[in-house]
Amino acid sequence: MTIHVESRKQALRYFYTKIVEPMGYKFSPDNELVEFILEQEVNSEGKYGIPFCPCQPIRHNRDHDMKIVCPCIPFHRKHFDAMRRCWCGLFVQQDVTDPDSLPQLSAKEMGLE
Ligand code: SF4
Repeated sequence: MTIHVESRKQALRYFYTKIVEPMGYKFSPDNELVEFILEQEVNSEGKYGIPFCPCQPIRHNRDHDMKIVCPCIPFHRKHFDAMRRCWCGLFVQQDVTDPDSLPQLSAKEMGLE
């Protein structure tokens, strides 16, 4: 792993914390998962110039793709608040200590579509 990737991951941790904390979220306590996802996002920045969500498809449609730039919580707030996590599990609500116990539900299953 290059120094650039590691330092960029650190920078993303710093910036994302400032964005997600006021929304009641934090990084998952599963640090291995966090490291893996952040690395994918640094790769996305290298490829597209933008840290797109690693667990959502890029459709090359601006309206869609802007809603999957990390952290995408504001665009999917209702859905994530109900699951208490984001899709990838990078972020969880602040009182979550066992992220593996959280369900992954589709918007359809939750009646949001
Ligand atoms: S689902 Fe999570 S990791 Fe993916 S873009 Fe949204 S906040 Fe980031």
